[in-house]
Amino acid sequence: MRAFTFERAESVRAAAESASNNPEAKFIAGGTNLLDLMKLEIEVPTHLIDVNGLGLDKIEVTSEGGLRIGAMVRNTDLASHETVRRDYGLLSRALVAGASGQLRNKATTAGNLLQRTRCPYFYDTAQSCNKRMPGSGCSAIGGVTRQLGVIGTSEACIATHPSDMAVAMRALDAVVETTRPDGTNRSIPISDFHHLPGDSPHIETALEKGEMITAVTLPKPAGGMHIYRKVRDRASYAFALVSIGAIIQADGTGRVAVGGVAPKPWRVDAADAALAKGAKAACAELMADARPTDDNRFKIALVERTLAAVIEETRDKP
Ligand SMILES: Cc1cc2nc3c(=O)[nH]c(=O)nc-3n(C[C@H](O)[C@H](O)[C@H](O)COP(=O)(O)OP(=O)(O)OC[C@H]3O[C@@H](n4cnc5c(N)ncnc54)[C@H](O)[C@@H]3O)c2cc1C
Ligand code: SF4
Repeated sequence: MRAFTFERAESVRAAAESASNNPEAKFIAGGTNLLDLMKLEIEVPTHLIDVNGLGLDKIEVTSEGGLRIGAMVRNTDLASHETVRRDYGLLSRALVAGASGQLRNKATTAGNLLQRTRCPYFYDTAQSCNKRMPGSGCSAIGGVTRQLGVIGTSEACIATHPSDMAVAMRALDAVVETTRPDGTNRSIPISDFHHLPGDSPHIETALEKGEMITAVTLPKPAGGMHIYRKVRDRASYAFALVSIGAIIQADGTGRVAVGGVAPKPWRVDAADAALAKGAKAACAELMADARPTDDNRFKIALVERTLAAVIEETRDKP
């Protein structure tokens, strides 16, 4: 690990200013992803700004009847919160499907959204990777791609976004709240928050230099049945090959977001509209522009089967 300096931020504005003034600075929250990346020298910040002590650890009902989740709310606290379990069950289920109890005790809402890909070539500094080193090439393309993306990918990068929580937040129409170094605030719909790789896979989100996440807001509860189903190589402590986050109403209409297949949680309006017609119709819309490799073509059938199982589950429990 390279040497770095450390500060405990005293306000959100001061944290954002400090990150903006120091081009090699990073915020640190739970540290469960960042510290691993620093040990491997994949991320080499020279300055860390600890944002844990800023009072961003509260979950509050909004005046619109939704929920405001502070950026530093731990995954465990969010998953077990009474209102989340009752009204946003999808979020609770997605969170407990991720990582382990110990990790969820440290991992935060903001850090989870910003965790980096699990592409094995990204983690191997002997391999070329456009995300780690822009312009160096992509060792995954033509390599072992079973875990990697089938849609939303590009000629420069075929990595997936690994978060379970983000899939639920996409289905719930979450909004990411931020503060910029000049003190202005922004509300970024989760649909616009994560970027597709295009020819610049190192630019992963809509955040500007120094911009800090302060909260994630959920609209008022959508009702319906909330199901998160994660398919993975091991029963626990593994990232999704495919995951489905769905909110399905009694008449079969609803919303569906997919994890494990794309560089961002994948949701398509036409698939939501087709959901009442069944898994085949909705999957056809979700995967319409898929460009799988021979290794990961199975993910397309897996999305359809997993979605079929989710729809079946709603019929089992009216
Ligand atoms: C072994 C293992 C298994 C895992 N399995 C899963 C899994 O199955 N599913 C899953 O979803 N996740 C999984 N994870 C990932 C885990 O959920 C993330 O590491 C965690 O959510 C990151 O949160 P953190 O608070 O620790 O972030 P940190 O590591 O502190 O930070 C991550 C990034 O976010 C930035 N950041 C943090 N806070 C802010 C802020 N307020 N504003 C702007 N930027 C900020 C940091 O600068 C950094 O770039 C796993 C992790 C490990 C180590
Ligand atoms: S798929 Fe993306 S993250 Fe993986 S090696 Fe290629 S550029 Fe890097």
